[in-house]
Amino acid sequence: MIIIYQLGNEPAVEFAAAELTSHLQRILRDSTSVVLEKKDNFNQTTKDAIWVGTSEKFYSDPDLEVQDPELDDAIAIDIEGGSGIIAGVNPRSVLLGVYRFLTEIGCRWIRPGPDGEVLPSCENSDFTVQIREKASHRHRGICIEGAVSLENVREIIDWAPKVGFNAYFIQFREAYTFFERWYTHQHNPFKQAEPFSVEKAREYTRELEEEIKKRGLLYHAVGHGWTCEPLGIPALSWKPGDYHVPPQYVGYLAEVNGKRALWEGIPLNTNLCYSQPEVRKLIVNEVVAYLQEHPEIDFLHLWLADGSNNHCECDNCRKALPSDFYLQILNELDQELTARELNHKIVFLIYVDLLWPPQKTRLKNEDRFVMMFAPITRTYQSSYTPLSHLPPLPPYNRNHLQFPTTVEENLAFLRAWQDIFSGDSFTFEYYLMWAHYADPGYYNIAKVISEDIKKLKSLGLNGLISCQVQRAFLPTGFPVYLMGKLLWNDKLSFDEVAKDYFLNAFGQQGEKCYEYLKNLSRLSTPLFSEKEVYEQIEKIEKLIEEFQPVIKQNLQQDYTAQSRSWQYLDYHAQLCSRLAKVLEAVDSEDKEKAWQLWEELKVFLQKNEDQFQPVFDLFEYIETIERIIPKPGEGD
Ligand SMILES: [Zn+2]
Repeated sequence: MIIIYQLGNEPAVEFAAAELTSHLQRILRDSTSVVLEKKDNFNQTTKDAIWVGTSEKFYSDPDLEVQDPELDDAIAIDIEGGSGIIAGVNPRSVLLGVYRFLTEIGCRWIRPGPDGEVLPSCENSDFTVQIREKASHRHRGICIEGAVSLENVREIIDWAPKVGFNAYFIQFREAYTFFERWYTHQHNPFKQAEPFSVEKAREYTRELEEEIKKRGLLYHAVGHGWTCEPLGIPALSWKPGDYHVPPQYVGYLAEVNGKRALWEGIPLNTNLCYSQPEVRKLIVNEVVAYLQEHPEIDFLHLWLADGSNNHCECDNCRKALPSDFYLQILNELDQELTARELNHKIVFLIYVDLLWPPQKTRLKNEDRFVMMFAPITRTYQSSYTPLSHLPPLPPYNRNHLQFPTTVEENLAFLRAWQDIFSGDSFTFEYYLMWAHYADPGYYNIAKVISEDIKKLKSLGLNGLISCQVQRAFLPTGFPVYLMGKLLWNDKLSFDEVAKDYFLNAFGQQGEKCYEYLKNLSRLSTPLFSEKEVYEQIEKIEKLIEEFQPVIKQNLQQDYTAQSRSWQYLDYHAQLCSRLAKVLEAVDSEDKEKAWQLWEELKVFLQKNEDQFQPVFDLFEYIETIERIIPKPGEGD
């Protein structure tokens, strides 16, 4: 029998001890052989027990020293013959330590949800695991995007710390648009839309915050919206609507082309006239009030409007860059927060027009702020380069900016900001937002993720938040899994993580599967860059056809998780061969045929959506792919 002693009452420690208990009960196939008890003090002489708690309760260990014990993670696992301790420098690290111990004894979580769990079966409990590790990066997070059900988000929050992530980001105040897309079943006419309201979204967000807090994860919140909510206009989605701007606020909107109005009818894309002190005050007051009501937020994102080339052209705003006014707002906010003893971290965003650093303004209290670099226009076909060979910044040309696509141009902006800000920072990347749909094997994107993460330190960045569809698990969860593992330990080898992932996700024929998907990625790259499409399509069809027998043989596996993996791969093969035919028709400029095949593919996906919902975001897939398929009658 093993006793698990929970040392301390922090929610994440309590959850960690419960997770350890329930996993060991299942691994040992005997629920009576593992019991959980709470203890106030550590007793070194106890035998056959695993102690779970924060490290200061056991010993002071210089190996575990981190810069900031609340934000940084480090773990110590010292278990011999089934007895010992699992410690972390904070409650979240304790949970990460428990999952790491379980990983060492053979558990894997290949995708979120119960069908992603692979547990070993052990005869006895004489486990021996010795580990002392600090996370390579402070910021290791996933950000909500795409279309999601409450269950989808709950599952990914549960999964994230199992593979090493420590943060979750809920965008906007209530993530309304992401839920609404799912519950109203956008892009699926075969499903009945459910009524969905802002109140419902708020209720779900509160529930998810509890899941985040239960695990001690770092909670990032909001982002866009601070430029319209203070005017009483909601920031719910990127859809234009019939919004009313209160007359006293019209003069606060950015003046573009001589007009002060909502930008393309979208409140959250509308910038304000930031040179007016009242405008800045309005934003600052709104953020302060929000933080007073939301002490649970660890990192509050204060971003300006979304969209680009939409900044104010009035005489006063022209006197400085948007980033100068942005930093003024941030300085004014810091003053107010300090006066009220509010210690939240504020994340500011280096993105589109704000890529050009300020000319005059500097942040006064750097410790308050975290810089988030978001190179949304970069290519994801190549990875980061060393900072030494960077091009000069293009001049700032208000509202006529062209945004950088190469990694070098993007990094030049990062370096320019690093010259004026030396505080904490991380990158916000979109690998699994759109780019992965042009890489059906997920091999290329995984490679870019790996190479980027291995360079983050040399770029002066302390981690990454992945802005991604939550359901990026078809054909496999390898890219996100790898991201979690590498952000924890950037020395891990890509090949070894891949080998281990595929073996656990697919069983004995995992390696074949890995080769198949690698080839699929290689053959598919030209399709999206419109080179030699025709020959490639033939090769892709052959590859898929030849792999079919392997898939069919493996649909029944010992583990449910592995059976599911093969079923997903089977479905994915059908999707890929149908898409190849669509792209073939696009390439031969037969618009009618391309559109018809695309419609057929959509119906196939829509009718089967329920089976693949947890791993595949139909909404975002259709949004993304449809952009590259010309509509008959358009542009002729
Ligand atoms: Zn202005």
